[in-house]
Amino acid sequence: MRFKRALREVRIDRHRADEGAIVRLLSAKGPRVHDLFRAAFEERLRYRGERVLLTSTIHVTNECRIRPRCAFCGFAAGASPRGYHRPFTRSYEEVAEAARAIERSGIPRVSCSGAYRGDGGRLAVMAARAVKEHTDLLVLVNFGHDLSREALRGLRELGVETVCCNLETINRGLFERLKPGDDLDARIRTCELVCEHGIGLSSGLLVGVGESRRDRARHLRFLARFETLMEIPIMGFHPYPGTPMENHPRCPLLEQARVMAVARLMYPDLMITAPTPTIGPEEVQVALMAGADNLATVIPDDHPHEVKGVGSPRTGNLDRVIELIENFGLKPALSVNEGRRACLTCSGKRASPSTQPSS
Ligand code: SF4
Repeated sequence: MRFKRALREVRIDRHRADEGAIVRLLSAKGPRVHDLFRAAFEERLRYRGERVLLTSTIHVTNECRIRPRCAFCGFAAGASPRGYHRPFTRSYEEVAEAARAIERSGIPRVSCSGAYRGDGGRLAVMAARAVKEHTDLLVLVNFGHDLSREALRGLRELGVETVCCNLETINRGLFERLKPGDDLDARIRTCELVCEHGIGLSSGLLVGVGESRRDRARHLRFLARFETLMEIPIMGFHPYPGTPMENHPRCPLLEQARVMAVARLMYPDLMITAPTPTIGPEEVQVALMAGADNLATVIPDDHPHEVKGVGSPRTGNLDRVIELIENFGLKPALSVNEGRRACLTCSGKRASPSTQPSS
């Protein structure tokens, strides 16, 4: 299929576009990459405006009980000498202190992330409570699929805006090789449960772990089944020393950015997230060019914890990220109210496949 026809099809049919057309866009090369990014950026401006949402991070625990560990993981205790390595679990007071520092910095949203502890999400609820009782921050909770119905009810009562459960890849054979101790079906069920509870769902792709472009296209289409989907993080693989995938090549920046651009075309009104650790703190403009509108793992100078990114130990420094956004000509959302507006615009009805492109 010719590129222009594929682009037209995806802009009209969105998440229901033909798999072949999506794959064609994911394979764009040379000047076609420019056309793809331009279309994605147009959609971003049309549906999401000029604001760039910023999301900071509180890592609540790295004590993960998944065994064997995921082959790419550098986050869990003992996984990699360049990751956290030592086990930790934050207390209510430690989470509250970090949340207050994030709010003071102007960042409107925080991700409270943890690892699989097998407690059904009790620690996740404690962390969300600590943030909500001490700040007005928008909250995303990410404890994978370690979330019971009771925990989800608790998160909803606290007013948590988003729960994240990444599938990484829906290529089942590959998932089982990468995550032999994890369970793809349990992750899908958690995504469904999040929707059932009426909480905004975040669910993303890990690019560059051996999946094909067709796998990526299928995965992007698959996400449409989740009714409250509000955010798609596009992560890129980086090898962590000491892990089973330490010799696997890192995901090229362009590959990751192409997936962001295609995700933007398929879901023009949703939040497309670029995590600063894997896109690269100095490369966030590439993600903005490709239509991303949320930069994650943005850390203010007075964050009380040492934060290492998931996927790569680097993180985006708030002052530098603001400078890069403004130099690019967009506006960082630097208050909870601005962040709330940016968040709420994607919790409504998904853009219909028949919505015509603006040009
Ligand atoms: S990637 Fe997540 S689930 Fe897998 S071992 Fe690491 S912390 Fe545990």
